[in-house]
Amino acid sequence: MSDWEDECNEDGAAGAIIQEPATKSAPTEWKSPCDRRQRENIVFAVRAATGFGASREWRADRSAEVINRRGGGDGRPFPTSANRGGPGRRTFGVEKSGSSPPVTIAVENASVGRIIGRGGAKIRELEDSTGARIKINKGGYEGEVVIFGSSAAQQRAKEMIEDLVADGRSQFHSGPGRGGDCGRGGDGGVGNCSVWSAAELQAANATPARLSIDWNTIRENKEKYEELKWKDLPPMKKTFYTEAESVSMLRAEEVSEWRKENNNIFVDDLKEEGAKRPIPNPCRTFLEAFELYPEVMENIERVGFVKPTPIQSQAWPVLLSGEDLIAIAQTGTGKTLAYLLPGFIHMDGQPVPRAECGGPGMLVLTPTRELALQIESECNKYRYKGYKSICIYGGGDRRDQINLVKGGVDIVIATPGRLNDLQMNELINLHSITYLVLDEADRMLDMGFEPQIMKILLDIRPDRQTVMTSATWPSGVRRLARSYLKNPMMVYVGTLDLAAVNTVQQTVLIVHEDEKKSYVFDFIRNMLPQDKVIIFVGKKLVADDLSSDMCLQGLAVQSLHGDREQCDREEALKDFKESRVRILVATDLASRGLDVHDITHVFNFDFPRNIEEYVHRVGRTGRAGRSGAAVTLVTRENWRMAPELIHILERAGQEVPEELVLMAERYQMHKREKDMCNPRGGQGGGGGGGWRRDGGGRGGRDRGQNWGF
Ligand code: AMP
Repeated sequence: MSDWEDECNEDGAAGAIIQEPATKSAPTEWKSPCDRRQRENIVFAVRAATGFGASREWRADRSAEVINRRGGGDGRPFPTSANRGGPGRRTFGVEKSGSSPPVTIAVENASVGRIIGRGGAKIRELEDSTGARIKINKGGYEGEVVIFGSSAAQQRAKEMIEDLVADGRSQFHSGPGRGGDCGRGGDGGVGNCSVWSAAELQAANATPARLSIDWNTIRENKEKYEELKWKDLPPMKKTFYTEAESVSMLRAEEVSEWRKENNNIFVDDLKEEGAKRPIPNPCRTFLEAFELYPEVMENIERVGFVKPTPIQSQAWPVLLSGEDLIAIAQTGTGKTLAYLLPGFIHMDGQPVPRAECGGPGMLVLTPTRELALQIESECNKYRYKGYKSICIYGGGDRRDQINLVKGGVDIVIATPGRLNDLQMNELINLHSITYLVLDEADRMLDMGFEPQIMKILLDIRPDRQTVMTSATWPSGVRRLARSYLKNPMMVYVGTLDLAAVNTVQQTVLIVHEDEKKSYVFDFIRNMLPQDKVIIFVGKKLVADDLSSDMCLQGLAVQSLHGDREQCDREEALKDFKESRVRILVATDLASRGLDVHDITHVFNFDFPRNIEEYVHRVGRTGRAGRSGAAVTLVTRENWRMAPELIHILERAGQEVPEELVLMAERYQMHKREKDMCNPRGGQGGGGGGGWRRDGGGRGGRDRGQNWGF
């Protein structure tokens, strides 16, 4: 397992995908991750078909069902090249009306294993979550993935497979230690670094599935049952906005000038059919947005904010008008308040009084515990109609969380893993939610939370209002938006962190791996008493190793990573915030959303896994008008990032070291050579254009590389 995957495994997120041992949060009756997953999938499917609560009846019949199906000999995983036509071959039930001609995509053999997954787990998950049927033919050099099903299902599967393959490339490139499977046996003489040997492929295909479910029948009935499931919903209201006169009077040129001056905000209507709707004008003052809501105004006056941030000015009129919204914005832009205040008004304005709803009205899904706690503390700053919020996250006391939910709450702020756990055990009612926020959607996808999100959303009424925030706009997030938001409007504050990066002096040093420690200790020796540094590392082990070395040298240091107990993480953050320690060693995951204003330096001990993360890390300093400095160690292993790093440095007017330029040139040359050998493999885009407003993001970056140099 890669170290990045290792990081992602908190909150039980990736447990479903990479089949790690059961997490602490798993109830004891789930004896193995496989049991747990299998059960989740079953309940998920049956719920989709029968509605809330149906899982219980089904579970009672499960063992009989298993025995019957095993006896029937339909117990093999989905077909691949190795078992096509063989005994036990599964027949595809997709050649029914509504199916489109199969779609075929070519993938490198090295990626085939990723698509199949251990024992066929990934391919099953892809099929279950997209509704498509997937067949893989492994050729001499390239494999062929054939996708059957409706065109929507095919499209979903295609996008997920492309994401998977692209993710695999960036991980496997990263050298020894990360792509741990790399070099594990040959690949039929292909000559590159395959992750899946012929023997393993065979083994995966031969692994008997424990249970077979007739997904096609379930899917066919889905719409019918969906209708039944939601037929008795109480009425809901979404529109709460009356445009102030001063806002209506703004001329189009004034609006576009304002957007340009305010972080170059970009707005769009993503409605798929018909003419585009006009995007509401921005509210430049709090009063313009909330004149009709004096309790909101009182709160704003109490916390002392002077004017809305750009994202707030543009998001509030959209959300108060009842539209779904995608906000592309980083932490620190005021995005939490951008969705919280309209959420309060939305809940209060529902025709059914809160007390009679039988469950929470607002749900905020967020990737990490730190972010969940941060959102809760932001939420607690405001007093609105006595609304109660609760934070539900893996690592927190499950029983306490259950008791709080039972006691009645209005707002739930949750990480998907733990919320899904409570949902599957029917400990929380999600039917009452009418306002849903998917916060930091890109990060949730990176952490492998998509299956849990899908399951959670099955139980939330489809006519809800949905807000999605994300720091980037890669294809995975676009797919999520298409699936779960209805005709959303989009507000993009894309250049904000780059603006922050412009105020940070950035130094890049090309070093050898074994020199890194001496560089960081040298840096610490030169720190001034008022300096405060966050040292970013790529692995939890490195965080422990580095911080204990520092302790041994008598330095006051704290560390923050996913393997630390929740209370230790909170204490580390508190010590750093309150300057009891001035050195924090952290992994990206734990530091996400870190809201500490007086960090003077960022030290990138390990280069981050993508350039967006670099921008995000560097933006931890130089905040609130202060200046900051960042030092980044770059090794030969990071050469793939060199062109993008140069691009960022140039945009921010920073010095670009000659060695970095040479590294980028070597990488480009290598990439060209590889593209010439494999013209279809290198179409992912140039290395230098990753940070683009037009949706480049992760999806648009280089994809033509998956082995080292
Ligand atoms: P966020 O992007 O939601 O993480 O917010 C970052 C910080 O900005 C939080 O501490 C908020 O309390 C603060 N904040 C939110 N809105 C405003 C505003 N309009 N003016 C000043 N600070 C704000």
